[in-house]
Amino acid sequence: MERENLSERYDVLIAGMGVAGLFCALHLPESARVLVLSKDGEEKSDSFLAQGGICVLKAPEDFDAYFEDTMRAGHYENDAAAVEQMIRRSPSVIAQLVDCGVAFARDGAGHFRYTREGGHSVPRILFHDDVTGKEIASRLLAAAKTRENIRLVEYCELVDVIARDGECFGGVLRKTDTGELFTVYADHTLLAAGGVGGLFENSTNYRHLTGDAVAIALRNGVRTEHIDYVQIHPTTFYSEKHGRRFLISESVRGEGAVLLGADGKRFCNELLPRDVVTAAIREQMAREGASFVRLDMRPVGEKTLREHFPTIFAHCRDEGYDVLTTPIPVVPAQHYFMGGVKVDLWGRTNMKRLYAAGETACNGVHGKNRLASNSLLESLVWAERAAQAMAEDGAGKIQKFPQADLSAYQDYDTLKKTYAALIRAAAEAERAAGGRRQA
Ligand SMILES: Cc1cc2nc3c(=O)[nH]c(=O)nc-3n(C[C@H](O)[C@H](O)[C@H](O)COP(=O)(O)OP(=O)(O)OC[C@H]3O[C@@H](n4cnc5c(N)ncnc54)[C@H](O)[C@@H]3O)c2cc1C
Repeated sequence: MERENLSERYDVLIAGMGVAGLFCALHLPESARVLVLSKDGEEKSDSFLAQGGICVLKAPEDFDAYFEDTMRAGHYENDAAAVEQMIRRSPSVIAQLVDCGVAFARDGAGHFRYTREGGHSVPRILFHDDVTGKEIASRLLAAAKTRENIRLVEYCELVDVIARDGECFGGVLRKTDTGELFTVYADHTLLAAGGVGGLFENSTNYRHLTGDAVAIALRNGVRTEHIDYVQIHPTTFYSEKHGRRFLISESVRGEGAVLLGADGKRFCNELLPRDVVTAAIREQMAREGASFVRLDMRPVGEKTLREHFPTIFAHCRDEGYDVLTTPIPVVPAQHYFMGGVKVDLWGRTNMKRLYAAGETACNGVHGKNRLASNSLLESLVWAERAAQAMAEDGAGKIQKFPQADLSAYQDYDTLKKTYAALIRAAAEAERAAGGRRQA
């Protein structure tokens, strides 16, 4: 993939090569010159890690239940209009993915098969084995590579936007291997840089996902929201090794796996929303003075474990556990970021020419706690919307380009520390304000 001779001028600059960045790029007109960046390799996005699946409105009569499940999981702090948009747009998004070659599981008659996760009152999640995200993201990446107007550049990060008087003119970029800094001007910029897991010691996210776009927004006075709303996943494989935590998808519990204490007894309803199950596990660990609880997958049955969850099956085997005979140790870990750069129903931020989509953005869909398998869908819906908004907003071509002072970004380590501190301070301030509101 090309990295040299990045030209200075694009119609659209997209920071992030996960499903949000790619889907937006694919929805832009082929006449638009688009630059898409990944801070790491092209497949090193959380989108490639998604296991469980993607929700869809499987029939019009499921609308009310799907809406209610999403709101209940989010403690009713969700934006109802955003939830409605996500659900109503889901059949179209799924149809586009199928057109793109995504192979969701189907029954013998060719109909979609649906699985279930915590917080869902009925099965409504489409999946591809236990690697749904890889199936979707790799098809989108392949489609983007066929488009002459889209330039994909790996190992290149956005370190700041170029902003003047409430308007965005592109970004300051840094090649991660050489440290070289340069500017790229663009009529529209999309922040799609994923979550914040890299700021946490224990997370299922890639380590390089450190909330950069959120910090950039905070630094430039772009509105953010709910920076303190971080989702902890109840079941990641317990390990004393350093690095990313391996997720044991909630759909394993959806298919019958149960949580056990040291006494071999169940201690909670495994299909309640994630925050509730996480709290129950932490209480159980505290009662037992233990570092983990156990997940027993035997009730799922050998056929489903082998066919639906081959990656989880293999990972546990590599760690010395045969899930057909032995419960595995699991522990909660950071997983998802509900807060982020505040956007409207079209992915617009409060800065002209600047948009955000995917986990980086906060559009209000998830409220205080995300319902399982809503995030791939939400990322895709807002990515498409942002592409449409860029066309409709008609901001026109930038006529005058402000200069960026690159010397301000030379000390990379200090910059990253400053960014992490900005996010922590914003989260702390929101937590304190939330506490005052409840008091
Ligand atoms: C283990 C795991 C399992 C999951 N399972 C599911 C599931 O089953 N269903 C579901 O709906 N959701 C799931 N999720 C959540 C879902 O995968 C993510 O929320 C979603 O993929 C986010 O997509 P995105 O495009 O916003 O970000 P990502 O896919 O994370 O992509 C972020 C991109 O931004 C780039 N980037 C980061 N910083 C910069 C920067 N400064 N400049 C330029 N580029 C940058 C990265 O290199 C990457 O290319 C899971 C997440 C994890 C971690």
